[in-house]
Amino acid sequence: MNIILLGPPGAGKGTQAKRIEEKYGLVQLSTGDMLRAERKSGSELGRKAQAIMDAGKLVSDDLIIELISRRIDQLKGGKGFILDGFPRTVPQAEALDRLLAEKGLKLDAVIEMTVDEAELIHRIAGRFSCAKCGASYHDQFNRPKTDGVCDVCGATEFTRRADDRPEAVKIRLVAYREQTAPILPYYRKKGLLHPVDGMAAIDEVGRQIEAVLGRP
Ligand code: AMP
Repeated sequence: MNIILLGPPGAGKGTQAKRIEEKYGLVQLSTGDMLRAERKSGSELGRKAQAIMDAGKLVSDDLIIELISRRIDQLKGGKGFILDGFPRTVPQAEALDRLLAEKGLKLDAVIEMTVDEAELIHRIAGRFSCAKCGASYHDQFNRPKTDGVCDVCGATEFTRRADDRPEAVKIRLVAYREQTAPILPYYRKKGLLHPVDGMAAIDEVGRQIEAVLGRP
């Protein structure tokens, strides 16, 4: 099964992708995570993307399509994947269709995580993650069981994303409205779009997604 998680920054795509990975055995393909890994490794691609990402803008379609195509090729077999943060523009959605057709794959569902925009900035402002394993947390909604210690790997260093600053979040929301939201009718016409309430509690959103995907 191959699915897309769509929704603005802070909608909870990453959190739900992790849950779907565990429940359904699918692999999360997050273009944001891939770009952050490229930056960490100091690659040319990472250096190119850095300023664009920190400003909250979108990196070029060509670069992203190349990145995701390579990752899908590396999967070979398996139960399928969850696209998180891709596609983010209509040209990316069209390229994805071509790419899947070439590889003999298909999309099974597009989950749209609907949100209240006013809540998002507040939600994003509290996000942080483990510097070692990347597990994500929130100051208010999802703190580690022991303060200052990662639940998953026990590390004690945490980081906050540069693009989670309110100025960058505003630009990311504009990018979502203007460049990503036009994808919704594209998938609606194909009968693949399933809205879920991204403002509900994490477990409830998970249940709504399971209702779309069927029992694991
Ligand atoms: P995310 O972690 O999905 O919020 O992505 C972080 C940043 O990476 C975005 O604000 C963009 O600058 C860049 N990025 C990630 N995915 C894409 C994409 N599909 N197209 C263009 N830029 C992307």
